[in-house]
Amino acid sequence: MTPLVYVLEEQVRDLLSQTGDDVQLVDGVAFGFDDWTVFHAYTEKPSSTPSGYVCPCFATHADSAGFLDEEKLMMQIRRRVDPDGLPIVILIAGTGAGSSPSCRALIVTEKGVAGADTRFVPRRSELYSRNTGILETSALAEKKVVIVGLGSGGSPIALELARAGVGHFTLIDFDRLELGNISRHVCGVNDLGRYKTLAVRDQVLQKNPYAQVSTMEVNVNQALSQVEDTVAACDLLIVASDNDQSRFNLNQMSLNNNKVALYGRAITRAAGGEVLRVRPWKGPCYNCVFSSGTVAGREEEMSQKRQALAVLPAYVEEDKINAMIQVGLSSDIAPIANMVAKMALVELSRGIETGMTTVDEDLVSDFYVWANRREEAYANWPRMGFKWTHPSILRWYGARVDRDPDCLVCGGHLEEEAKP
Ligand SMILES: [Zn+2]
Repeated sequence: MTPLVYVLEEQVRDLLSQTGDDVQLVDGVAFGFDDWTVFHAYTEKPSSTPSGYVCPCFATHADSAGFLDEEKLMMQIRRRVDPDGLPIVILIAGTGAGSSPSCRALIVTEKGVAGADTRFVPRRSELYSRNTGILETSALAEKKVVIVGLGSGGSPIALELARAGVGHFTLIDFDRLELGNISRHVCGVNDLGRYKTLAVRDQVLQKNPYAQVSTMEVNVNQALSQVEDTVAACDLLIVASDNDQSRFNLNQMSLNNNKVALYGRAITRAAGGEVLRVRPWKGPCYNCVFSSGTVAGREEEMSQKRQALAVLPAYVEEDKINAMIQVGLSSDIAPIANMVAKMALVELSRGIETGMTTVDEDLVSDFYVWANRREEAYANWPRMGFKWTHPSILRWYGARVDRDPDCLVCGGHLEEEAKP
């Protein structure tokens, strides 16, 4: 088959804007797949860690008259690189019909020079054309989301929002990817040992190469002012961390800065989970709900050794610690992460007429409960059967939760005193 070369349209435009009739050679980089039949070529280092086998790439453009001396170009390239058996990708930018950019590609191998087909990876607007009508992606591109916790819950949420076209992310987590995380995480063995933040950033950029992603490898509880500055600048705070202390701290920040926050968590072995939406001063805060007896008693899923160490005395043996780590299935985490992602899109689309508007009319509750299996807190729930009038597994339930007038965090503030 004719080799196929993918190029970022914006990089070709940048190359063309470097005018001048001298044939300038730009050092790029390309990645090959499937026995060097498919290439991803870049004029500069890609923003996310790429995959594929690396090979040399050079980019240039024709002169203003559309002329390029290919013989001279080949001599220049042969002087600069000894490919050691690897193919060399050459990109030649030009101007096509209607002054739109065009790009030719050549693949140089030991057998000679062959032409390749090129495809543009388009600009942002075209990337999300299939979301049109349901989501307003141009508006979402301006939105800033902070996600705390990039584990099995937070990482798929980040990816869903990237797919929807959300443009700005701050990812906060201080854990690294371990082997035990892989089966439930969006990242794979290629990312072992990396910070979850940086590995997820790469995944986000794979879905939305135009997203702005910043990361903070900090423990929220030890970097309060740094995290609060970030929360103050966001449109939505998503909390998928695995400990109550961070959630209480983030709740305070969400209220201080009047930012809507979504909290998602799985309970023991992901038998089920909960999602809480906090609209500061307009509904219950995290403390109103989770310091009361009703839901505080449900034991949280414990998936990290660090969590177990935090609650066990120091002298406990290794196998006891490991026995405490009880992970749930990825498919049991997915509904909870998906609900958070949907509620996030509803919040971010607020005020814009989209396909999400009717969903907003339904999500009147601030607290949602999901059960994966009839065990733990859901052990006595009736079997699903054919009825829909009783609580059963694999359905979302909105529960009425109210502001606690005695809440230590938001109590005592009357509506008329509400922050702007
Ligand atoms: Zn409260």
